[in-house]
Amino acid sequence: MQKSLKWLSSSLLCSAVLIGGCNEDKKAASDGQVGQAAVPQKTYEWKMVSTWPPNFPVFQEGVDRFAKNLDIMSQGRLKIKVYAGGELVPSLQTFDAVSQGTVELGHGAAYYWAGKVPAAQFMSAVPFGMNAQGMNDWFYGGDGLTLWRELYEPFNVIPFPVGNTGVQMGGWFNKKIESVEDLKGLKMRIPGLGGKVLSKAGGTPVLLAGGEIYTSLERGNIDATEWVGPYHDKRLGLNRAAKYYYTPGWHEPGTMLELIINKAAWKSLTPDLQKMVEEVAMATNLWMHTQFDTLNLNALRELMADKNIEVLGFPPEVLAQLKLLTQEVLDEEAAKSADFKRVYENFKAFSANHDVWQTLSEISYYSANHPSMPFDIQKALKDAAQ
Ligand code: CA
Repeated sequence: MQKSLKWLSSSLLCSAVLIGGCNEDKKAASDGQVGQAAVPQKTYEWKMVSTWPPNFPVFQEGVDRFAKNLDIMSQGRLKIKVYAGGELVPSLQTFDAVSQGTVELGHGAAYYWAGKVPAAQFMSAVPFGMNAQGMNDWFYGGDGLTLWRELYEPFNVIPFPVGNTGVQMGGWFNKKIESVEDLKGLKMRIPGLGGKVLSKAGGTPVLLAGGEIYTSLERGNIDATEWVGPYHDKRLGLNRAAKYYYTPGWHEPGTMLELIINKAAWKSLTPDLQKMVEEVAMATNLWMHTQFDTLNLNALRELMADKNIEVLGFPPEVLAQLKLLTQEVLDEEAAKSADFKRVYENFKAFSANHDVWQTLSEISYYSANHPSMPFDIQKALKDAAQ
């Protein structure tokens, strides 16, 4: 009796509102899955743009996966048509398109909008900042996400962390970097705060979209470039354009990618769909990071086997100097913008604690498991107590 009443109410709802999804519900009801028919049937057809090239592995793949999973989980109530960079709007207009409501959703990285929101750079990558684990901790466990939402609030944009590249590579150079002197006069494609640090070291940061990097390096218009990690760098053919490949990516130690949603569109969603978007965003964040981590080592091994290139580590004194210069850049930027200062202070305090816990947990364990890596646990405990 109860079953047939539910079926009846489902049929009435379908005939009353005549919207997508009802046929599925009738089928479900006839299959005996009557519980699902009571779900509110308002449907949404949204557009999503990104800053990535079409079919760009992991990045655009993650965006496609996000949209597809929401379609499945919402039983077709939230349909998102995905456009890669340039297909509907130019890549770097993604933020404006979402802000103005031209599209409901976007995917990119917060440092692309540094010109509009300088403090947004903390939401993507900070040289010598936190790794992927730390960034996730700051967003989901600390104040990171709240601060991020405050920064985007004036633009009617709601951000979510979706995807992390992990530690990137230091980049491709047409000469060896043996001292800080070698960075002087170096023209390098490197975005964001990392570019400002290079500038302080006497180099010239250049901004280039992904599609222009290979040709510029190969023709000698730039002397060096960073891109992502071994998997994506190899795919772009950078190993055919420069001889020296350096690690680590001091400038991007755990670059967080972002999903952005127009505020009015978000508010129009039913609470259950809002929850699905939130949870699928978190799942996609995890999925993308696992892909980067899984694909990069094989690609690096292939590059290391290539006789035409050399994979090298930056000398410790170069890294130490870049770290000092990073501190100067961050302090200068904080002096220019109250928002930057506010976010920087929160980020700095969280990072300091994160470092202590990483040392006592991850590094302590890593050393226990790899005895060749010396680690003084007593000293670490003593430092943590201070
Ligand atoms: Ca990069």
